[in-house]
Amino acid sequence: MSLTLINPADETVITEIDEFDVPRTDAAIARAAVAQKLWARLAPAGRAAALRRFADVVDAHVEELALLEVRNSGHPVSQARWEAGHVRDVLEYYAAAPERLFGKQIPVAGGLDLTFAEPLGVVGIITPWNFPMTIASWGFAPALAAGNAVVLKPAEWTPLTSLRLAALALEAGLPEGLFTVLPGRGPVVGERLVTNPTVRKVVFTGSTVTGKRVMAGCAEQVKRVTLELGGKSANIVFADSDLEKAAATAPYGVFENAGQDCCARSRILVERSVYERFMELLEPAVAGVKVGDPLDEATEMGPLVARGHYEKVASYVPDDAPVAFRGQAPSGPGFWFPPTVLTPGRTDRSATEEIFGPVVTVLPFDDEADAIGLANATDYGLSGSIWTRDLSRAVRMARAVESGNLSVNSHSSVRYSTPFGGFKQSGLGRELGPDAPLAFTETKNVFLAIDE
Ligand code: NDP
Repeated sequence: MSLTLINPADETVITEIDEFDVPRTDAAIARAAVAQKLWARLAPAGRAAALRRFADVVDAHVEELALLEVRNSGHPVSQARWEAGHVRDVLEYYAAAPERLFGKQIPVAGGLDLTFAEPLGVVGIITPWNFPMTIASWGFAPALAAGNAVVLKPAEWTPLTSLRLAALALEAGLPEGLFTVLPGRGPVVGERLVTNPTVRKVVFTGSTVTGKRVMAGCAEQVKRVTLELGGKSANIVFADSDLEKAAATAPYGVFENAGQDCCARSRILVERSVYERFMELLEPAVAGVKVGDPLDEATEMGPLVARGHYEKVASYVPDDAPVAFRGQAPSGPGFWFPPTVLTPGRTDRSATEEIFGPVVTVLPFDDEADAIGLANATDYGLSGSIWTRDLSRAVRMARAVESGNLSVNSHSSVRYSTPFGGFKQSGLGRELGPDAPLAFTETKNVFLAIDE
């Protein structure tokens, strides 16, 4: 069986990929288990050096990886270059971790008490199609740094950069079997990472529906699991904010990666007294988003990833949808969808469900309490933004919004050096930041009796 990959910008066939089945998945997991034992025995400085070499090799291939992502995922080339550079940075950051995985010495009577951060063994990583290589690196870099082996299942539609990264790992001298990419179908390869008992942890990024299934499967074996799931994040604009800046940046808080971003601020909540003015400012900002050929350096937004996903996004904008205004998109082949601004009621499907495309809803609110209630009226809790010049209000709001990653007067959310993850049904556990390697270890406590 094979997977046919389609370029989302022009619908041409890129290549066919041989897909893994359960026996081949099991064989790769068994090889990973052998490689892991040797890797964990390496001196920490040896593991650190190997990861730094891996980062160097990725650095030498940033342009190649970026162009691969442009073809496979339709990402604008400037964004794809950032993504490939980010993989290098994540590897460099976690290359420092093997020599810093400290245990503790705890004062007790009768001896010496020590803790060790032991690797888990083989870690399974299941990635989505929206940011294939960056999300992969958030899992494999800290997992490898902590002494684990990694088997990674990329999304069916977008396996190419992950496959190339596994080849670059070998080129950098990482041992055979330590980091393997297994292209294949979710219910086959993904599910096997959940059920194979040699895999000791699953890191899953994707939809909340599939994430719940993965979590239930992991529960069978009390397998460790990290989930990064969906979002319906709020961009909250108060009347006292820099309204021009809030409106100018709002499209980039939601339309980046064509809205296929779990952190997309897909609900803009605007204080009623400035709602009309905000919409006047938002319209030219949306019209100004440059949508087009991903290989054009000036392009800010590319196509949606696949025909099936295009149809899902389009279902949120039927003919009678409350469209305020729309931006531009190319016509002809490719899964092009224009940036779209809706003004629905608070409980409409477009205002409550994750669309995962370039569609944003704008809703007015009355006061701070109303804004908090509206922002939190969702099962999700991943990111969000707060626009105000009042510092106390910014802090009150940041504490009140039930979300894992908030930014004030900006839309920033993911940095490799700070923790990332969701409240409520947006996820479980955290990735990135200084503590990520610990999520790939078990704490072992050892007591040594001392003769008095
Ligand atoms: P999924 O959650 O189904 O896919 C994510 C990953 O899980 C893919 O690698 C997929 O493989 C795999 N998978 C699918 N079924 C199983 C299974 N039974 N066991 C283990 N792994 C499995 O997301 P979709 O691609 O179907 O996207 C649907 C929606 O999910 C989007 O429209 C969006 O709303 C949301 N989403 C959210 C993301 C986020 O970052 N939070 C990322 C992607 C999607 P395969 O590719 O073979 O199906």
